[in-house]
Amino acid sequence: MQKVEHLGIAVKNLQISVPLFEKLLNSPCYKTEQVETEKVNTAFFKQGETKIELLESTGPDGVIARFIEKKGEGLHHIAFEVVDIEKEMQRLKNEGFVLLNDKPKPGADNKLVCFLHPKHTNGVLIELCMERK
Ligand code: ZN
Repeated sequence: MQKVEHLGIAVKNLQISVPLFEKLLNSPCYKTEQVETEKVNTAFFKQGETKIELLESTGPDGVIARFIEKKGEGLHHIAFEVVDIEKEMQRLKNEGFVLLNDKPKPGADNKLVCFLHPKHTNGVLIELCMERK
């Protein structure tokens, strides 16, 4: 795994949280994007090498809506950049981690992504992400 590519933060309302993070980071949101398969709207900030991804559910049954229901708003996942996502998925599988998807799937920000089950990672949802070519 390479650097932390981004941190994902679950929020109830992007219209409130985007200006809040713009103030906090003193930098503008540079991209918003809907990921329909995940039922989320995302908004991105860049802070040095690392990005912040705000996640808002597009419906009451989305994963982010359920997360907020259970835990409230806050840190949702840590995403690590990988060079070869399939190879890294195989390595982690061999180490006994449980992957939430068998194949890399399209994520926001032109990435292929895979999530690890937080049960096996001390409760932290980990995302692997690789730039799509
Ligand atoms: Zn993410």
